[in-house]
Amino acid sequence: MLEHLSHPIFKVVRESARDLNQRAYVVGGFVRDVLLDRPSKDIDFVTIGSGIELAKEVANRLQNATEVNYFKNFGTAHIRQEDWDFEFVGARKESYRGDSRKPAVEEGTLEDDQHRRDFTINAMAISLNDEDYGSLVDPFRGLQDLKDRKLKTPLDPEVTFSDDPLRMMRAIRFATQLDFTIDEASYKGIVKVADRLSIISQERITDELNKIIQAPKPSIGFKLLFDTKLLHQFFPEMVALQGVEERNGLKHKDNFYHTLQVLDNVCDHSDNLWLRWSAIMHDIAKPDTKGFTEKEGWTFHGHEFVGSKKVKHLFRRLKLPLNEKMRYVSKLVLLHLRPIALTKEIVTDSAVRRLIFDAGEDIDDLITLSKCDITSKNERKVKRFLSNLKDVERKIKDVEERDRVRNFQPPVSGAEIIEMFHIKPSREVGLIKNALKEAVLEGEIRNNREEAINFVLKKGIELGLKKP
Ligand code: ATP
Ligand code: MG
Repeated sequence: MLEHLSHPIFKVVRESARDLNQRAYVVGGFVRDVLLDRPSKDIDFVTIGSGIELAKEVANRLQNATEVNYFKNFGTAHIRQEDWDFEFVGARKESYRGDSRKPAVEEGTLEDDQHRRDFTINAMAISLNDEDYGSLVDPFRGLQDLKDRKLKTPLDPEVTFSDDPLRMMRAIRFATQLDFTIDEASYKGIVKVADRLSIISQERITDELNKIIQAPKPSIGFKLLFDTKLLHQFFPEMVALQGVEERNGLKHKDNFYHTLQVLDNVCDHSDNLWLRWSAIMHDIAKPDTKGFTEKEGWTFHGHEFVGSKKVKHLFRRLKLPLNEKMRYVSKLVLLHLRPIALTKEIVTDSAVRRLIFDAGEDIDDLITLSKCDITSKNERKVKRFLSNLKDVERKIKDVEERDRVRNFQPPVSGAEIIEMFHIKPSREVGLIKNALKEAVLEGEIRNNREEAINFVLKKGIELGLKKP
């Protein structure tokens, strides 16, 4: 293990612990990640005794620690050095009683501390003590589980998950991030106590959910959330996407698995968490808008409007931010059919200008979403759609270079209109401004000042305003 202790902090902790005559270990996520060759910037230290005392000793020896914080109530300390985070804690023993979320905590041995950790792969420690510096302390065979790519609780799964139900979300999060399987007994434990998740705050659930979504292939996590019925507890709208109905021999697609496919596709193109959320939400209102007619078969008319309205409500409940991120997702859901719709008609410049105007800054993300939304099994169909979308993309580029409507600013402002006609702020000003925008988008005039001023003059006179 010595090769994993190359960071200078380990020598410092070793010396500090020696001086205090206190045993110290690296433990948890860092050990797991170095063994997996994953980069990791936070290191957890556990010591038999006071974590705060050890951290003080370490902080004294570090010249360039940017931040040192002590949390007396929790007996923990945090040191930040450049982009590294070091966490110090005294080994403890926990016992949970009944329905209480707060465990009773007392001092314990290293082994006690390893027992309270969530998975065997997260319970390994490396000694920083002189007599066995660098040796692995692995009481639950975490190393073997790492090799087998398996998540397994150290103790009885039902007890582990029931004591702290967030661990169920963490199990699925690690399974997704690491592409590991959840050991059968642990999986059964989750299914058994899934409804205990209700005692966990939505903020903490959503933190884990966002980590799942930021993994390379989030569908792994969503399928597990669905199969264990955890998803049913905090995101029933997504569960409702699942299922296929058949009528007159006509089936619609399963919108849950379709959504997951779109989400995975988006992940191949972009790391943007909010674009990923747009993929999750894009068809969220399909169950609300589902219909069947003899003539059309299955329809989901208006699901983009209803869906974009639902985004706000869902963001609020899921404790996602209610700011421009939400508005971005809502907008992409609203517009998600537009690029494909454009390929079905003769694409006029004005239709393209309108799309650029409506999508603004986010036009490229919208096109990405639109491409990723093509999940047909029919290869020829996919090819045709993609090639049509390429045409739309080219057209967008053309029109944008010519007309610059992406961040449309009216070439003549309201204040200028007021001045031109010597009028007060009034209905007419709004009418003229809107007509001007329409004229630019429709391509009646070009997006420049000269043509805009002429247009405004003409329009004002039409409305009965006096020639200036
Ligand atoms: P990441 O840093 O990617 O979130 P991690 O495993 O390091 O993964 P942390 O939340 O940083 O997760 O926790 C550090 C360690 O603390 C874990 O490896 C695990 O040993 C322990 N731990 C964290 N949360 C829990 C929990 N809810 N139940 C039991 N042990 C936990
Ligand atoms: Mg960590």
